[in-house]
Order: sequence, then structure tokens, then C-alpha cells
Amino acid sequence: MKLRCPSCKSYDIVHYMGAQFGKYECKNCGYVGVIVIEDTNEKQIKKRNKRKAA
Ligand SMILES: [Zn+2]
Repeated sequence: MKLRCPSCKSYDIVHYMGAQFGKYECKNCGYVGVIVIEDTNEKQIKKRNKRKAA
């Protein structure tokens, strides 16, 4: 799983202040926040959820 910046879509994301605040920082554009894109295989996850629901 990779983290992506929601602002510039960069993968250059690090934990902000050592992750103690639960925030992330984008080294590329300077974005800081709790919202990051978790770049997993979203399609597979959706399929799993459908199977569970069904
Ligand atoms: Zn960014």
C-alpha cells in the first residue's frame, strides 16, 4: 500500500511530526493533513465488499 497526496497526487508522503498527530505531509507540494489517498487495489476491495454483502 502506498500513500498519495490528495492535492498533487504525489507518492512523496511522509508522517508529519513523526506520526504522533496522525497527520501526513507531502514533500512535493507541502500539503499537511489527515487525508491521504491509500493507493491500494480499490477495485479488488469493492469486489470483496460486494461478496460480503451478498
Ligand atoms: Zn502534494
